Amino acid sequence: MLDTRLSEVLRTTKSRLSTLSDMGVRTTRDLLTYFPWRYSDESEFVKIAHLKIGEPMTVRGRLKNIFGRKTRNGKFMLTAKFYDETGEIEVMWFNQQYLRTLLKDGMEIILTGKLKWSGSRGSFMSPKYEIPKPSTELLHTGRLVPVYHETSGITSKWFREKIRPVLYMSKFFDDPLPDYFIEDYDLMPYKEAVAQVHFPDNEKCLERARFRLGFQELLAIQLRVLMRKEYWKQIAKDAGKVIDTDKKVVQQFLSTLPFELTEAQSRAVDEILADLSKPVSMSRLLEGDVGSGKTVVAALSIFLAVQSGYQAVLMVPTEILAKQHYKTLYKYLKDFGLNIQLLTGSLTKSQKDELVTTIRLGTVDIVVGTHAIIQDTVSFKNLGLAVVDEQHRFGVNQRAILKHFGAPHLLSMTATPIPRTLALTLYGDQDLSIIDEKPAGRQEIVTRVVPSKKRSDAYNWIASQIQDGRQAFVVCPLIEESETLEVKSAIDEFERLREEVFPDFNLGLLHGRMKQADKDLVMQKFVDREIDILVSTTVIEVGIDVPNASIMLIEAADRFGLAQLHQLRGRVGRGEHQSYCFLFPENNSEMSKKRMKAMVENSDGFKLAEIDLELRGPGEVYGTRQSGIPDLKMASLSDHEMVRSAREAAEKLLAQNLPLETILEIERLAGQQEVVID
Ligand code: ADP
Ligand code: MG
Repeated sequence: MLDTRLSEVLRTTKSRLSTLSDMGVRTTRDLLTYFPWRYSDESEFVKIAHLKIGEPMTVRGRLKNIFGRKTRNGKFMLTAKFYDETGEIEVMWFNQQYLRTLLKDGMEIILTGKLKWSGSRGSFMSPKYEIPKPSTELLHTGRLVPVYHETSGITSKWFREKIRPVLYMSKFFDDPLPDYFIEDYDLMPYKEAVAQVHFPDNEKCLERARFRLGFQELLAIQLRVLMRKEYWKQIAKDAGKVIDTDKKVVQQFLSTLPFELTEAQSRAVDEILADLSKPVSMSRLLEGDVGSGKTVVAALSIFLAVQSGYQAVLMVPTEILAKQHYKTLYKYLKDFGLNIQLLTGSLTKSQKDELVTTIRLGTVDIVVGTHAIIQDTVSFKNLGLAVVDEQHRFGVNQRAILKHFGAPHLLSMTATPIPRTLALTLYGDQDLSIIDEKPAGRQEIVTRVVPSKKRSDAYNWIASQIQDGRQAFVVCPLIEESETLEVKSAIDEFERLREEVFPDFNLGLLHGRMKQADKDLVMQKFVDREIDILVSTTVIEVGIDVPNASIMLIEAADRFGLAQLHQLRGRVGRGEHQSYCFLFPENNSEMSKKRMKAMVENSDGFKLAEIDLELRGPGEVYGTRQSGIPDLKMASLSDHEMVRSAREAAEKLLAQNLPLETILEIERLAGQQEVVID
C-alpha cells in the first residue's frame, strides 16, 4: 500500500506529479513522510463581536449579499457580508473568479483573516476560507493547520487536500523501533506520529508526534555515527601505518617556518602526532576558524608521513582551492625535495594518465586535487595519510575514503565553528581537535553596518577604493527556501550594479548553478584582477584566498548565521591592505540589530557561533543549508536533552545487537540517505 505510486492514488496533473517526483515524493509513503514544517494555530474560534484589529483570527459564520464585479484596473473582485449572531463585517477576495460559483448566499463558512477597520466598517481582505462539510473535519482553518514547504510552487492547501484522504494509510507503517524501546522511552507509535504530525488532534498530540519523529531522526544520526566509529576501528586497527613523529623530524619542519606555532596549533599537532605514531589509523576532525592556521598543521602531518616512506593526499572542494593549496604546500615543503603534484580537471588526458601512473608507482609523494578527481581516478602505491578539507560540506566521508584508499590516517578539516558538544554529537565518529586561537598580529577587518540611507555613500566609497586598485566582493541575500530564487536575485543584483552603480568597472558573477569550470574561470579572473567586483551567492564562502580583495559587502546580512557572516568576512583581510566588511541588514528588528552589533564587535568565529546560538538557538543556527549540517526535518538539534537521550538510546540499541536491517530502516525513515555499509 505505502509503495503505491502517487499517480495511482492522487487525482492531479502530470506536471504536479513530476514536480513532486523531483522533490523525491513519488509514493504514498513519500507523501505521508513529507512533513509540515510549521503550524498555524487557528483552532480557536472567535465571535465577530470579539475580533481584534490586525490579528489573524478564525470565525465561523455565514455569507450574504455576494457580489462579483470587475474593478477599474480590470481585476475581479468578490464582496460579501459575513455575519454571525454577534455582528457582521465585509469580506473581499480578488482574482478568484471560481469563488463566484462556489460561494452561495446563506452558506456557512469558516474564515481566517485579519480585521481591518476603515470608516465605520470592519473587513477581511482575502481571508483564508473553508466550507465545512458535515461528515469531514476541517483541513485549512479552525484547527492546528499544517503548513508545508512550498518551494516548488505546490501550495500548502494542496498538500492538505491530498494528504488527508490517504492519511488512513499511515496505519500500514511498521514501527522500526522495538516495542520495549518505545515503551521505555514513552514514545508515540510511529504510525500514529505520522498521522498526528499532519493533522494533530490537539497541541499535546502534536508535541508527542514531533518528539517521536525528532527523536528518531537524532537516533538515526547517533546510530550512524557510532557504527561508523566502530566500523573504522575494525578496519583501522590493523592498518599498521605507523608514522615516525620523532621530535627531530618535527623540528626539521618547524624550523623552516617564518613563525612559531600558536599554542592551539601545538595542541592540535600533539593530538595528531600521537595518533599518527600508532598502528591504528587515525580519524580526526581538525576544526578551526578561517585563518587559524590549519594548513600548516596539515603540512606538518603530510611531511611526517612522507618522511616515513608513505604517500599523502590533500583533497579540497574546488579546483581553485586545489591550486591554492598546492602552492602553499609547495612553499612549505619545497626545501625537502619532495615530489608534489597537482591533479586537476584542466590537465590533458595524457598528462593526467601519466600523473596517475606515477602516483600508482609511488614516484609522487604528495597529490593535491579535488575530492572528485582523486576519488575517481587515483590509486596509490602506499598512501599513509589523507587530508580532506571541508569534508562535511562536500560529502566526502570515511566510507568514501575507505572505499577508495583503504585505511590511511585520515585528517579532516573544517572552518565551520561548531561548538565542541555539538560536534561530538554530529561528527562523533571522529576524534576532534580544535584550534581556537589565531596567530597574533592579524589585521582587524573594519566592520560597518550600513543603514539603507547610507547605501550610495558606501557605493561611492567602494568605487574610490577600486580606483586605488582594490577589489570587492558583493554577496547577495541567502534565500534559504530556494536556490533558484537565490540565483535569480544574484543575477538581478549583478545587472543592477553593472548598469546603474558601477558602470566603469569590470563585474563578475558567480553562483551555485554555474558549471564548475565556469565558476573556476570567473574566480581565476578575479584572482588575476580582470574582475574588480565579484557579485556572488554564498558559493565563495569556502576558503578562497585573494589578497588584493579588501572589501566584502553583504546584502541582507541578517539572513545569514553569524558564523557564515564571519566566514564571508574572512575572504578579505588576507593581504597587506586594510580591509572592510559592510553589512547591509534587511530588517530593523532588535534581533537583527543585536546580531549585526555582534559582528562589529567580535572577530572570533567560535565566539560568534556561540552568540548566535544564544540569540537564536541551535535549530535556527544549525538547521540550515548554510551550516553544512544535515537538514533535520524536525529541527530537533535544539533540544540538548533529546540529543543526549538519543545518544544513550543508540548506544543501548547497538549493545543489543539490533539487526542491521532495523538500523537501516530507522535511518531511512529519518530521511538520512546515506547508509553505513554498502
Ligand atoms: P586556515 O586554513 O585555518 O584558514 P591557513 O592555514 O591558511 O588558515 O593560515 C592563514 C595564514 O596564517 C597563512 O598565511 C599562514 O602562513 C599563517 N599562519 C599560520 N600559522 C601561523 C602562526 N602560528 N603564526 C603566524 N602566521 C601563521
Ligand atoms: Mg584553509
